[in-house]
Amino acid sequence: MNQENTNISCKIDYHIHTMLCNHAQNGMEAYIKKAVSAGFDEICFLDHLTLSEPGNKLSMAPSEVPLYFQAVQNLKNRYRHVISIKAGLEIDYHPEYIELIHSIVESFSFDVIGGSLHFPGGVDVVSHKSDWSKGEYETDHIYRLYFEYLDKMLDNDYFDFICHIDLMKKFGRNLPKCFEKEFDVIIQKIANKKLVVEVNTSGYSHPVNDAYPSFDILKKCFESGVEITIGSDAHDPENIGRHYEKVLPVVISAGYKHFCVFTERKRFLVEITAK
Ligand SMILES: [Zn+2]
Ligand SMILES: [Zn+2]
Repeated sequence: MNQENTNISCKIDYHIHTMLCNHAQNGMEAYIKKAVSAGFDEICFLDHLTLSEPGNKLSMAPSEVPLYFQAVQNLKNRYRHVISIKAGLEIDYHPEYIELIHSIVESFSFDVIGGSLHFPGGVDVVSHKSDWSKGEYETDHIYRLYFEYLDKMLDNDYFDFICHIDLMKKFGRNLPKCFEKEFDVIIQKIANKKLVVEVNTSGYSHPVNDAYPSFDILKKCFESGVEITIGSDAHDPENIGRHYEKVLPVVISAGYKHFCVFTERKRFLVEITAK
């Protein structure tokens, strides 16, 4: 792991989607303009690459990655005097596609890769139209499945941070007490691997009305020495930096003073700013 500390304070949003994933609104420049007007110093496009999903309805196709990467590079250059723009991907972990994931990640100089689990074991835990959102499945079953896949994901090293680590609570079914120990083991594994956890504010817009991760998990991350970054998971320019005023006091009271930013997979710490 490469990491350098800085005393620079920086307003960042490290999780922004584009129209290439087929479920986000507006062009990339609209996100940048919104971020500039909201006083952001640095943003990161982190669009979906979900190789297991047939038809790529919710993700760019692998063949679109070069176009996406080049589009971010062009914007990075065009706006370099106005705002810092980073290029990233949010890649779903799937054991069958791990070689392809590595080959894509290694073919481009992305600044950061986020690892996600939207479909652990083929079960959709993210869509509003999913069976999970409609109250199907035993809660324990889905949490068990998610932990199984999260544990496997952590055995891989294609990503730098873990996106929305407790995403499965999205529709209001919170972490059952009996899984707290499993989460402790996962956090320890993250700490040992020196991986970063994302504070994702989009959960405040969903039935759970909480950030990912919840305060208890965030506090355990801090106590275990796990660094964090932050993102809004914007699928619309209006969502850039959403709920930051709500989450920053939570992050600070968990003990954190810094967020991670990334350049070509190398990470740096910047001071948390509430400007
Ligand atoms: Zn996601
Ligand atoms: Zn996302």
